[in-house]
Parts: sequence; structure tokens; C-alpha cells
Amino acid sequence: MIFGDQLDEHAPLLAKLNPTTDTVLMMEVAQESQHVPSHVQRTVLFLSAMRHFADHLQARGFQVRYIRLEDPANTHSFTTELARAIADLRPSELLCTWPGEWRILQQVQSWSQRFKLPVTVLPDEHFITTAQAFSDWAAGRRGLTMEYFYREQRRKTGYLMAGKPPQPEGGDWNYDAGNRQSFGRSGPKPPPPQPPRFTPDSITRAVIDAVRSRLPNLPGRLDSHDAFAWPVTRAQALASLKDFIQHRLAGFGPHEDAMWTDTPFVYHSVLSPALNLKLLNPRECCQAAIAAYQSKQAPLQSVEAFIRQIIGWREFIHGVYWLEGPDYAQRNSLNQHGQLPEFYWTGQTDMACMRQALTQVLDIAYGHHIQRLMITGNFALLSGVHPKAISDWYLGMYADGVDWVTLPNTLGMVMHADRRPGSTAGVTGLVGTKPYAASGKYIQRMSNYCSGCRYDPAERTGPNACPFTVFYWDFLIRNRDQLAPNNRMAMMFKNVDAIPPETLVQISIDAKSLRKQWGIDPR
Ligand code: SF4
Repeated sequence: MIFGDQLDEHAPLLAKLNPTTDTVLMMEVAQESQHVPSHVQRTVLFLSAMRHFADHLQARGFQVRYIRLEDPANTHSFTTELARAIADLRPSELLCTWPGEWRILQQVQSWSQRFKLPVTVLPDEHFITTAQAFSDWAAGRRGLTMEYFYREQRRKTGYLMAGKPPQPEGGDWNYDAGNRQSFGRSGPKPPPPQPPRFTPDSITRAVIDAVRSRLPNLPGRLDSHDAFAWPVTRAQALASLKDFIQHRLAGFGPHEDAMWTDTPFVYHSVLSPALNLKLLNPRECCQAAIAAYQSKQAPLQSVEAFIRQIIGWREFIHGVYWLEGPDYAQRNSLNQHGQLPEFYWTGQTDMACMRQALTQVLDIAYGHHIQRLMITGNFALLSGVHPKAISDWYLGMYADGVDWVTLPNTLGMVMHADRRPGSTAGVTGLVGTKPYAASGKYIQRMSNYCSGCRYDPAERTGPNACPFTVFYWDFLIRNRDQLAPNNRMAMMFKNVDAIPPETLVQISIDAKSLRKQWGIDPR
């Protein structure tokens, strides 16, 4: 059995199969697009990439039992489709690769007993660090700091290490002091080169038609076949990697946190959908970036920043997901219970930054990391949305959404919600040592969104006050007992203490009113 996010041509599973006697089972089941609302483009991406992968396997001589979304006999869940396959094929054994989600793993683990069949789950060798190796690294640590994990990854892989004994290339582990630049008033000049678009072929067009007819109510937009442009094959994914290395990698580091109107990709790689479907291998992405550094095509500050995203953050988040177990999804350390506002599904809001970020997600199922962390995520954190509500939205609405990615990123990075129950690690979260909370002034500094907005990022009360600024101060006021003991938050609370008491009261009143207006807190 091969799941939709396991499209790895070099997976060890394939090496274990005998093409003349074994059958590969792949299934398009509606349940996977409906357990959380899945963006129409994300759904098409998964299914089209699966169909192309199945064709590739057949060309290699494998027998494939492929269940399409529109097949009349399709029962639309993995377990019931497996039951049909077992009845038809009478296998002696079932093999699969470790899935990307606890929910699916639990289904897999039930099948042996249910179907009286040996089930072997192979490790997912796409990742550089196994779940066991991450667990060994994490053992005995009170908090999990990505930076220490990342340094160990650098030593282990040898990426950007030089000399004897190996030291970080250039002398430093990271070059963020020269990164995180905004574009200033004039914006990016010239505009960043766009990532390649891939015209849908007949397979993708058939998937689009099937999704429209079988799943007509999915969120997001796909107004025409040609609006879909994601890579769906390994060849296209490799073309995307090559394009990034040649055209955007050099600008990536300095501007990785910058945002600009109608510039959805900036210098980002936009490789995460292909990586998370396993059409690309993280090692080849790193090696391509290092080759660009060695040939002086890209500066160290950009290459190091990209490598850190891949072998640092991506592997770290994957490790946290499997380390913390299925109950991780229930964590809510800041006790926030608000509902996700309707404008997350429509983009219709008078906040210019949110309108930009949300419309972009609805149009292309993508937002770069700083839009996710500091716009759509920051709003959810500050306004008091329930962590699972925003986490499910991230899972379903982005082309690269897979549970192991979105859950720890959202609960840990965005919502500061992942403190272990009974933790003795002080006041910090598991993944983040403090919340990524920022007022409208941060967004004003890192983008041009505020210049086209009816709100004023410097105002914290009144009808023109920026909702991010109102909610920022209200967040600190509401969570003072939990957050003030954190030394890293001392300056923030010093600033709260400098606000006149009557203004603090007004901030709380205005925040409550906004929460009610947007249905976050219906009371
Ligand atoms: Fe966003 Fe506030 Fe700036 Fe408007 S003023 S764009 S709401 S940060």
C-alpha cells in the first residue's frame, strides 16, 4: 500500500516487491479530503501526483490496483478499500511505509487483527533523522531547542562544515544577523523571479473534473483547469528545484521574512508541496544549494538559511510530531477556545494584511512561512482562536499540508500551545521558548500592507486601531499570569506596565468587541 504523500521512486518498499507476484495498492478516498476541509488545489495536487506515480510504477513493470475517486465501487475509506482489495487479491502479507499522520498509523495498526494478515510498516527513509534517533536526542532534555538539533544535523550530514575537526562553514552556525531584511519603501527591485508553472496535462485535467463532480464543496478556488500550476511529477519537481537554485536562492536569506503586496512567493523555494509528497528528497535539495554556494551562485547567508529550513526545522518538526504522540493534538497551554473567523474561508476582511494572505491561500493554496507565522497565525494566537481550529485550517488549506508538518508548526510555533502536561520546564512551550506575538507595527516594518489599510498599526484603541495591535496588548493582558514569569517576555510586560490603566481597560473592551464582531468569541 502506498499513501498519497509517499510518492518516492526510491522508497525501500518498492525494492521489496516482486513485480510479477505482488500488487501495489493506491486509493483516492473522499474521507481524506473531508476529515478536515481540504483546499480544492491541495486535493487535485495529491490525486494528480498519485495518478502520475501509479503510471510511473506501471511503466517500471509493477502491477497497480488503483482506485480512482470516481470509481463507482469506491467505498471512500482506506479500511473498506483494503477490505475489497483483500477479498479480490487474497494477499499473504501487507507492506506499507510509515504514514505521515497518527490517525492513519492507528488505522494501519488495526489491520493485522482485523484482516488476519501480517502487516509490516517500513520506516520512512525519506527523512534524514529517524523517529528513534530524534527520541534519543530529545531524551532527558527539559525543552527541545531547534538550534541544538540543527547543529547536530550539520555535524551528522557534513553539510556546510569545513576543516578538521569540522567547523561551520564561514565560522558561524547561522547568518540571520544579515537576513530578515524588509524591502524598504520602494519594494523588491526588480520583482523576484516567479517559480515555474506547470500546465495541467490530460491526467491532471481528468482529476480536476473528478474532484469538481465528486467533491463540489471543497474550499479554495480553481476557476479553470489552467489555474492549477503545481508540479505533479518528479521531473517537474526537479525542474522546480533547479529553478529555485538558479533564480531565487541567492535572494532567499536576506528577504526570507519580508512581505510585499501581490508578491506571494518572494524568494521562497516553494518546494514544500513536492518535498512533502516525497517527489523530492531533502538531501538532493541541500546538495543542490551547497553546489550553488561552492560555484559562487549563491551567498552563504542564503544557502545556510535554506539548509536550516530543511535539515533543521523540517526534520525537527517531524521528530516532535512522532515523539509527542497522538495526544499532542489536544494541547492548549494558553487555554484559548475561540472559533476561527469566517474570513479565513472567504478572504473578506478590511484588514489589508489578512486579506492579502488569505486571498492568496484561497487562490493558490500557498503562503510563505512568514505570512503563516506572523499574519494568519499571529492573528489566531492574539485573538484567542483554539489551536486545533487553526491547525486544521493549515492542514487542509495549503498545498503542502500534512499532519506531521502542520500540527507541531501550529501548536508549537504559532500558538505556543504545546507545553507538556505537568511540564517542569518553567513557562516555555516545547517547541518555542516564547510566543511569536507581534503587533501591527511588526507587519508595518516587514511589509507594505499597512499603507493600503483602513487601520493604523500605531493605534491601540478606538475605531481606527489596528486589530493586531489591539489584540497584541490584550493577549499580554489576558495571559499575564502564564507569560510574565518568562524572562524572554520581560520587556513586553515592561511596556504593558507603561500603559495608563484606563487605556488597558479600553484595550480589553475593544478586543472583546472585535472578538464578538468576528464570531471568535460568540458570547
Ligand atoms: Fe494589518 Fe493592521 Fe497593517 Fe492593517 S494596519 S495591514 S490590519 S497590521
